[in-house]
Amino acid sequence: MSAGPEKIIRDDIRALSAYHVQPAQGMVKLDAMENPYRLPEPLRREIGEVVANAEINRYPDPTAPALMRRLREVMGIGPEYGVLLGNGSDEIIHIIVQCVARPGAVVLAPRPAFFMFSQYAQFAGLPYVGVLLNPDFTLDAGAFLRAIAERRPAVVFIDYPNNPSGTLFSDQGIARIIAAAPGLVVIDEAYNPFARKTFMMRLAEFPNLVVMRTLSKLGLAGIRLGYAVGRPEWIREFNKVRPPYNVNVLTLLVAERVLAHYDVLDAQARSINAERERLDGELRKLPGVTVFPSDANFILVRVPDARRVFEGMRRRGVLIKNLHTGVPLLDHCVRLTIGTPEENRRCLAAFAEALAEG
Ligand code: PMP
Repeated sequence: MSAGPEKIIRDDIRALSAYHVQPAQGMVKLDAMENPYRLPEPLRREIGEVVANAEINRYPDPTAPALMRRLREVMGIGPEYGVLLGNGSDEIIHIIVQCVARPGAVVLAPRPAFFMFSQYAQFAGLPYVGVLLNPDFTLDAGAFLRAIAERRPAVVFIDYPNNPSGTLFSDQGIARIIAAAPGLVVIDEAYNPFARKTFMMRLAEFPNLVVMRTLSKLGLAGIRLGYAVGRPEWIREFNKVRPPYNVNVLTLLVAERVLAHYDVLDAQARSINAERERLDGELRKLPGVTVFPSDANFILVRVPDARRVFEGMRRRGVLIKNLHTGVPLLDHCVRLTIGTPEENRRCLAAFAEALAEG
């Protein structure tokens, strides 16, 4: 008789639970940092045409020349750098971690940080070091530099701004980390459309720097496209591990078309920022609430009882993220994604009511 999963599947994998996506049917969905806006009708029609003419009987061209040209033009990526495309930036993290996964290689990142940094390290069997942030979620550059000196990480991931806090770490702190790191440093700029600060310009200065981005937060979460930019020597190696047809034909075509209208996405990001500032101000008026300054499209808030607020909001039809799960510094924290003005009005009302329930 053949052995079942309990004999064959790694113990650490069997001990995990699958990535949990909360049911959101009929809810105001403010749990996943999506852009709440649809594309304007003329652009949707343009996409319809592009999709109708797509050669979906063929595999995608892995070099994706049209999208690459557009990305380079819109994002200001110089010809001296390579670009890696991923099925979301999730896949890029996975690829990079696999590439460095020789025995004993260490992955290092802030703590808390984007959950998938540690997950992919674990999948690859690598030790993962999370360097605790300060209680206000700023970077403890001294602790980070000490951890780098001690653990000599093969790769450092820094989310800039940080998820889940929304904090934009100091440029000087990050520059010191990149200069001190013995290996690769990946600056994850998933929330760049809102923060509007980047390390892209500093690729020339740091040979061990790779900048990673995604179109997900810009309003294209559904098509899954992430990219990483760095010296060709790095990108060439990552490309060997990339599944040959990882970005599908429809994604390549739609991303190219939408990026041709980048002004539309940029205007949406600007109104999300304006709403974030407004919501931040309103939340600060509520008693017993600590609001952490955010440069992303969400706000982290500490409340007296996170579970009560989360459940109270859910009962009122608003889905947010409860981060009170035992991760250090996140005690009684919830994360609110910025929605449309109407969604934010409902979010704020539900939040205030849930907070007042005792
Ligand atoms: N990096 C950070 C910091 C994120 O918060 C997320 C998504 N929540 C990702 C990367 C992954 O984004 P995607 O796979 O949609 O590109």
